[in-house]
Amino acid sequence: MNQLRIVGGTLYDPANGVSGEVRDICIDDGRIVDSLPASARRLDASGMVVMPGGVDIHSHVASGSVNLARRLLPEEHEADPAAAPALTGGDVARSGTGGTIPSTFTTGYRYAGLGYTTVFDAAVAPIMARTSHGELDDTPIVDAGFFVLMGNDEYLLRLVAAGERAQAREYAAWLLGAAGGYAIKVVNPGGVELWKRGARDRVGLDTPVGSERVTPRAILETLVEAANGLGLPHAAHIHCNDLGVAGNVATTLASMRAVEGRRAHFTHLQFHAYDAAPDGTRRSGARPLIEYINAHPEISGDVGQVMFGAATTLTADGAVEYLLHKSSGRRWVNVDIELETGCGVVPHTYKEKNAVSALQWVVGLELFLLAADPWRMVLSTDHPNGGSFLAYPELIRLLMDRGYRDSCLARVNQTLLAGSAMADGVGREYTLDEIAIVTRAGPARLLGLTHKGHLGPGADADVTVYARDEDVSKMFATPRYVVKGGTLVVEEGQLRRAPRGQRLHVRPGYDGAVETPLREFFDRHATVSFRNYPVGDLRDTPIMVGRT
Ligand SMILES: [Zn+2]
Repeated sequence: MNQLRIVGGTLYDPANGVSGEVRDICIDDGRIVDSLPASARRLDASGMVVMPGGVDIHSHVASGSVNLARRLLPEEHEADPAAAPALTGGDVARSGTGGTIPSTFTTGYRYAGLGYTTVFDAAVAPIMARTSHGELDDTPIVDAGFFVLMGNDEYLLRLVAAGERAQAREYAAWLLGAAGGYAIKVVNPGGVELWKRGARDRVGLDTPVGSERVTPRAILETLVEAANGLGLPHAAHIHCNDLGVAGNVATTLASMRAVEGRRAHFTHLQFHAYDAAPDGTRRSGARPLIEYINAHPEISGDVGQVMFGAATTLTADGAVEYLLHKSSGRRWVNVDIELETGCGVVPHTYKEKNAVSALQWVVGLELFLLAADPWRMVLSTDHPNGGSFLAYPELIRLLMDRGYRDSCLARVNQTLLAGSAMADGVGREYTLDEIAIVTRAGPARLLGLTHKGHLGPGADADVTVYARDEDVSKMFATPRYVVKGGTLVVEEGQLRRAPRGQRLHVRPGYDGAVETPLREFFDRHATVSFRNYPVGDLRDTPIMVGRT
């Protein structure tokens, strides 16, 4: 009953070196297997393109800030009601709302409808972790997890101030397990804390945050070492200081140099790749950044591509949202999350005729097109910050079709594009292999998900089948079939089943001695008791962590 043979499709499985070969895929009980009896159910994929299910390494779908954004934008709910899908199985079907921040059920349905089967929320404040798990429980189909914000955490900063880096590592291990998270997230290290204290200037890598010993550099080093020392499946996931600011590429490069030789992931790099022109305006800084990344195999990144149209910016980087709110005049929310982090939300519209939007669009494409190793520069729009995940098919067309890309480039505001690689002309066109790398195989590898992002025996049976189309954005927007964990969820382009996804989380071991001072800290300063803080039993077993 649980067996399925996908017959005659053309496979793109770069993790196993398979490029455009016609092969069958055999599925038994949720896993890919070598072979099946002749009696197994068959699905005809002749002439179609078969890839592993998509893996989103950086999105925002289940956090306190996502919920604030949903509440801030009721007009989106009015504009995009999402009816309950017509499911054939016994699964519960729920209506919802769409827009840039879909409701939970709609988020699961739409990701699956796009051929994506694994998604990570990139920024959860640990005190809000219970809410995030509740939201993910209500996000069907996709396997999901989240990254835990630590770069402005009061207790961590105290340990850094005391020079207790080994204790900081043990605390990070405890916090990940307590929140049921998957990876360490760093957002504007120290900068959010400084902003909360009233500082409004740019933060340098060596700006003291209170104590002279606590600097963005020290926080970065501490958390990168913690992720590597704990043997976490994913590196520390870093949103650098000075997001969006002219000249910030210098900060980004300095941050990379600060952790040189150590595994680290730098996220939504498009927002951190601006040079400053002599008149102080932004211009592209993509070239020096990508040259550094090309030469440093320990560094990985995702792009955070901007797509023209409606977006919602939401981030733990309250300082950035303050600047955006001041410059755009759009309404906003700002919340300081007691001892842990910040949070801000501002709706935003990227316009072709706006000089800054056009520059951002160009810088993101440059990062893709100049990257020597697509395994280490993977696809994201930082949904919904640079645009919705529903814009991925359009982004794929921009990468694969130079003629189309150049026609779009000709339409955008040229004011800030002088000297950029795109303005000089970039001929590269991504192949289907490279698309498979940046949308599934690469993110899975960077996340340490050995059962995902490929179609070899033993892999999770997450498979997407696309009908070829002249227009690749159409092909990628509406897969013909999607299999999730062995269940056929999309049939003939229609969502038919909505099984529960798995929770992806880690529970690293830690030195129990870390708990005594922590309990004291909670008693003195926290609004939640130490005992009630951890989320408790999660429904899926944690992924094993091999401490070094
Ligand atoms: Zn993000």
